[in-house]
Amino acid sequence: MTSVFLGIPTASPHTGRLHGERSFPDAARDGVGDAQLRRNLGAATATIRAKRAGVVAEVPDWDELRVAGAALKDDVLADLERYLVQFEEQFTARGGTVHWARDADEANAVVTALVQATGAREVVKVKSMATQEIGLNEALAAAGISAFETDLAELIVQLGDDLPSHILVPAIHRNRSEVREIFLRAMPGADPALSDDPRALAEAARTHLRRTFLAAQVAVSGANFGVAETGTLAVVESEGNGRMCLTLPRVLITVMGIEKLVPTWQDLEVFLQLLPRSSTGERMNPYTSTWTGVTPGDGPQEVHVVLLDNGRTATLADPLGRSALRCIRCSACLNVCPVYERAGGHAYGSVYPGPIGAVLSPQLTGPGFNSTLPFASTLCGACYDVCPVAIDLPSMLVHLREKAVDADPAGHAAERLALRAVAWTMRSPWRWTRALRGVRAGRLLARRGRIRALPFPLSRWTATRDLPAPPEQSFRDWWAER
Ligand code: SF4
Repeated sequence: MTSVFLGIPTASPHTGRLHGERSFPDAARDGVGDAQLRRNLGAATATIRAKRAGVVAEVPDWDELRVAGAALKDDVLADLERYLVQFEEQFTARGGTVHWARDADEANAVVTALVQATGAREVVKVKSMATQEIGLNEALAAAGISAFETDLAELIVQLGDDLPSHILVPAIHRNRSEVREIFLRAMPGADPALSDDPRALAEAARTHLRRTFLAAQVAVSGANFGVAETGTLAVVESEGNGRMCLTLPRVLITVMGIEKLVPTWQDLEVFLQLLPRSSTGERMNPYTSTWTGVTPGDGPQEVHVVLLDNGRTATLADPLGRSALRCIRCSACLNVCPVYERAGGHAYGSVYPGPIGAVLSPQLTGPGFNSTLPFASTLCGACYDVCPVAIDLPSMLVHLREKAVDADPAGHAAERLALRAVAWTMRSPWRWTRALRGVRAGRLLARRGRIRALPFPLSRWTATRDLPAPPEQSFRDWWAER
């Protein structure tokens, strides 16, 4: 099948919701109120931020690399159909099989049928955001097939019957003593004397996973990149579990979003510099696996790739929103986001949390549960500064807020009214000066320099925020005095 669906909006994209229909503001209350979660997240993101900053500073042409990464991705997005067809031709010519999936249901049906055809009841998995996005594990389970996550953090989430909360470190919300408890409770054969030393925990996972690797007949992976020129797929990782999954089983099935292509093999050199420094704060990925179709007698002898749309074509249609498809899932924007750090990844209710989730999830799924996500930002701009493919996340957040307000004018009536009143006041210097005097009167409500509660209707605003007490004298009065 060729890329006949390009240009046609996705029929029924997966909702991408992890847990029900709670909006961000509701779900964020849980995260903000959980002191342990905030401590875990604060410590982990601070460590990754410092590592990233150190290794990025070592690269004298980092800004040029960013520009190159953005330009390459934009080139692919501008001519996606041609690159996809080229990839299909090359992948097929080298013995692989290409499948096309318009949405999550189609992708899940393809993978399930492929696994069933092998007779296997179990698959091993390389960490993959695309398979989380489509809910593949659940779809396989419904068909009686067990999917075993082999990435350490994904394993912790799976054994803990938990939900991922970070793109790169899905168990970032867990500390090591919590991980130990999960292993003792859910890992078959875990040593009751297991300590919470990270080395001991990693060794326990290693022993557990090795048995699984050696028994597996089928592996399922995502892909960080697909090379159109050669039909090559690439996975980068730090633990070696990916390499085991990609080489040991007889059948390998990869689910890849259609935006993951790069034009040529040489273009990989840009992304293989940008990605490790931005994600794990490493100079290069410990394991970079690439494969091109089938090599007789070496590695998997049956190789499939499912090219997934699931809302990407619709995203591509928005000239401003489409640059979200440049994303290489490094998660640097999550690690610098003050909202993510305090609310935690679960609050987003989406497979993609943080700033990239706030712009990508609503676009992939269309308006609905995810429409509150673009408001989950202070617009401080830190996400744009660190993004290795220079996605202007703050501008896109404002753009998506505008779309959300236009789609639901009644739901934002109070906000609209308030902004109209502010605009009317600011149009007249006389009105503005008097309004400032009124604001200064708010000092009467301040306690220890902060206003924590305002009368209705402003009480709705201070229900989740406080603000500094206004100064005794405005700048205008100070200026007039001199
Ligand atoms: S938006 Fe940029 S910083 Fe965020 S995950 Fe994607 S590539 Fe990384």
